[in-house]
Amino acid sequence: MAVIRVRTTKHTSFVNITSQVREVVRASGVKSGLCLVYVPHTTACVFINEGADPDVIRDIGYMVEKLIPWRENYEHAEGNSAAHIRSAIIGNSRVIPVEEGDLLLGTWEAIFLAEFDGPRERKVIVKVIKED
Ligand code: ZN
Repeated sequence: MAVIRVRTTKHTSFVNITSQVREVVRASGVKSGLCLVYVPHTTACVFINEGADPDVIRDIGYMVEKLIPWRENYEHAEGNSAAHIRSAIIGNSRVIPVEEGDLLLGTWEAIFLAEFDGPRERKVIVKVIKED
């Protein structure tokens, strides 16, 4: 198991962590198996989407903001309910196939840590599981 530490710099941000996850897979020596990427936080999460055109991620951020506004009639006293809801909906883990010692991502795919209540120091747990 490896822990990737990400220091986010904005309140809401999407950090491309693909190269760090790839490095964990390479270092594990696993040629064929699964890579679990898990974010142990309640106001940050992880997803996979296009990493080539930054406008795609910008548009995702724009729509998440619109669908789950920061100010609403929430009860949670900490005042960050929107961050909890956004993270709950997107999800805090992804599983990626590993083949030939590398992540089997699509050409345009990248792995993003989504920060919804930063800036903070975030942890991403990566576990590479070998296929029998
Ligand atoms: Zn909270």
